[in-house]
Amino acid sequence: MLKLYNTLTKQKEEFKPIDTKSNEVRIYTCGPTVYSYPHIGNMRAYIFMDNLRKVLKHNGYKLKHVMNITDVGHLTSDADEGEDKMLKSAREKNMSVYDIANMYTEAFLNDISSLNVELPEYITKATDHIKEMEEYVGEIVDNDYGYVTSKGVYFDTKKLTTYGELSKANLSEQKAGARVDVDPEKKNYLDFALWIKAPKEHIMKWDSRWGVCYPGWHIECSAMSRKYLGEEFDIHTGGVDHIPIHHENEIAQSRGATGKNPAHFWMHCEFLLIDSGKMSKSLGNVYTLKNLEEKGIEPLAYRYFTYTSHYRNKLNFTWESVFAAQTSLNRLREAYFQHENSQVVNNISAQRLNELRTKFYDALSDDINVPMALAIAWEVAKEQEKSVDYAKLLLEFDEIFSLKLNRKVRPSSVLDEVTDIPNEVRDIIERRKLARQNKEFALSDELRDKLMELGYKVIDSKDGQKIEVI
Ligand code: AMP
Ligand code: ZN
Repeated sequence: MLKLYNTLTKQKEEFKPIDTKSNEVRIYTCGPTVYSYPHIGNMRAYIFMDNLRKVLKHNGYKLKHVMNITDVGHLTSDADEGEDKMLKSAREKNMSVYDIANMYTEAFLNDISSLNVELPEYITKATDHIKEMEEYVGEIVDNDYGYVTSKGVYFDTKKLTTYGELSKANLSEQKAGARVDVDPEKKNYLDFALWIKAPKEHIMKWDSRWGVCYPGWHIECSAMSRKYLGEEFDIHTGGVDHIPIHHENEIAQSRGATGKNPAHFWMHCEFLLIDSGKMSKSLGNVYTLKNLEEKGIEPLAYRYFTYTSHYRNKLNFTWESVFAAQTSLNRLREAYFQHENSQVVNNISAQRLNELRTKFYDALSDDINVPMALAIAWEVAKEQEKSVDYAKLLLEFDEIFSLKLNRKVRPSSVLDEVTDIPNEVRDIIERRKLARQNKEFALSDELRDKLMELGYKVIDSKDGQKIEVI
């Protein structure tokens, strides 16, 4: 039985899809706001999303999964204050908003691909759905849950008796933190913008029933989820920061338009911390996958690192722990190859294999407990008796982990014994070794890129360069 923790009910519940006939699970994930390079904290949320997908698929479900790309409307505060993040970034970089959106969407897609994260069935851009958003706001206003001010259209939270159903206790915290100088035109300090009147200089704006406007961030997700998944769907995912504002407001909008809470399960991934505080773009204390790669940490080692904590627990980033994750991943791969290379087959009883398999899937069925599942994988990896049966089992587990356990890592110290590395490549590796010794880092980076072009990836570790065939 698959159990998932539902933020809405604050408990683990048995998962059953709404549509039991087709066995299709409909999921919506809040995607990135593409105003900057994604950081590894963001990536934690998408690794979780991917694990959830793969567990659902293992359970025999078909998926219809939408992830949006926010390219308009997300202000520098998650509520209604500040500038649009996209416009701010465009201004600072002296680029058009559309070029900014394209550049960072591509960076995001590259990052999730290097983490072996599968793409959801639909990737939807906010700016492609302005009509649907305007219609949605119209329904809310027509149902009397919205009102117009000189700044835009606002949601009337007082009208909705269920407002706050997701975050519950957090609302009082929000109230305590609410600024004193709230917009005097707002009926209630919790009311939020659905549709915002665009000042003259605003670049992204559209003609609408309420004049030249741009959408609020929350309406984007409501409009896109309904368009592709219907008024009610199975699972909505995001990071914990979404609970008190963004998701609360999505639910309010949906109740205002259709009377329903749009998702049966609301699932949230906890934060990646740094120095025990939040890692976020706005605080400027972020690392990207590229920053990790520069230190010889491959993206999949970061994925492994996230497996050291359950998705509902905070995880603290330190360089030591990601280096340790790279070492553990290498060891797990080595253990896989020891089983694989043993060439011994059928020596492990079906009963033993099934026992391990059951423990593994039981862990995942318990609210996607990947750390527990990883412990079972290590049990298999460390088995004294070597067997191709175990190697196969590890590869089966890797369909969920997505760590490429059968990827070969070759230490440069044994390069001489490896005959299939061309001389040209050996030469570059040696030159790079020298460059690093002489602290010529620009040259060393250039040589690393050259190796990449030739199909060899370099990982720098305490023991020197390691070469991996891509
Ligand atoms: P954004 O691009 O800021 O809209 O964020 C994209 C996703 O990353 C959202 O699901 C956020 O909740 C999530 N997120 C942002 N910062 C972190 C963090 N430090 N740790 C985990 N998830 C995060
Ligand atoms: Zn969203």
